[in-house]
Amino acid sequence: MSDQLRIGAIEAGGTKMVLAIGTIAGEIVEKEVLPTEEPEKVLPKIIEWFRERKISALGVGAFGPTGVNPHLPSYGKILATPKPGWVGFDFLQTLIDGLHVPIGFDTDVNAACLGEATYGAAKGLEDVVYLTVGTGIGAGVLINGKLLHGMLHPEAGHIPVEKELNDKLESVCPYHDSCLEGLASGPAIQKRWGLSANELTEKDEVWELESSYLAKALAIYVLTYSPQRIILGGGVMNQKQLFPLIQKKLLEILNGYISTPEIQDINKYVVEAGCRGNQGILGALALGVRSLEQ
Ligand code: ADP
Ligand code: ZN
Repeated sequence: MSDQLRIGAIEAGGTKMVLAIGTIAGEIVEKEVLPTEEPEKVLPKIIEWFRERKISALGVGAFGPTGVNPHLPSYGKILATPKPGWVGFDFLQTLIDGLHVPIGFDTDVNAACLGEATYGAAKGLEDVVYLTVGTGIGAGVLINGKLLHGMLHPEAGHIPVEKELNDKLESVCPYHDSCLEGLASGPAIQKRWGLSANELTEKDEVWELESSYLAKALAIYVLTYSPQRIILGGGVMNQKQLFPLIQKKLLEILNGYISTPEIQDINKYVVEAGCRGNQGILGALALGVRSLEQ
């Protein structure tokens, strides 16, 4: 495939749509950001932007929940979201009808996982977990080089975690009293300590507790998905002091039971994102590239 091809990418978030044109090698040559208005307003703008730029393929990483299984009628649709106008919207078909190019479609976190596995901190690896710790917590999972879908898509941010004894927080997740997102997301940190997470850098007990929850979750991902590497992104992970704490606690929980060369090199096993905030849009680009290969 020629590296001269222009591939389109959309990182479709709840508040903004990032559009980009890039090359197969992962170079972003142009970028645009639009607010996520109702589909009837924003989709014509997106389609026009890409039409003018004559793309050969497009990749989309979409906010969820969304249909990602190509064999189901829900494929490419936005499912139960509080965003006005988006419930049931056929995002993928609207783009196909407007652009007539091959399109790869997946969740935003699966896209970020693929971005890291193609261009970032897990380049060349086939088994990768990408976890974003931000307003919400979500995981993208690559297994045997393929993004994991299943009946819906993994919702590994909502796994139950055992509450720490001294933690009095009432979970911020409306569904679960004791799930990872409910106890360890940015809003959970803010509710527990009364300050936003970025104002708590100096308070060691915040990060001790946060790393305990994240390590419990990572242990479950190691034991179930068996990734070769775990990448941690999202706003909360700007607190770099979390990394050594999580690495240590993860090893303590596993207690020698999993002792692969990858795990033994723990500093290279649990790592920060290599795409420096661009993993979502680069992953969408990689989805576009993959759509040409199929
Ligand atoms: P979103 O999850 O909304 O896509 P982010 O990944 O940026 O966006 O996550 C936002 C969350 O991350 C907020 O709860 C915010 O408090 C938290 N956050 C952002 N920057 C920092 C920081 N430097 N340190 C700790 N937490 C941060
Ligand atoms: Zn939950």
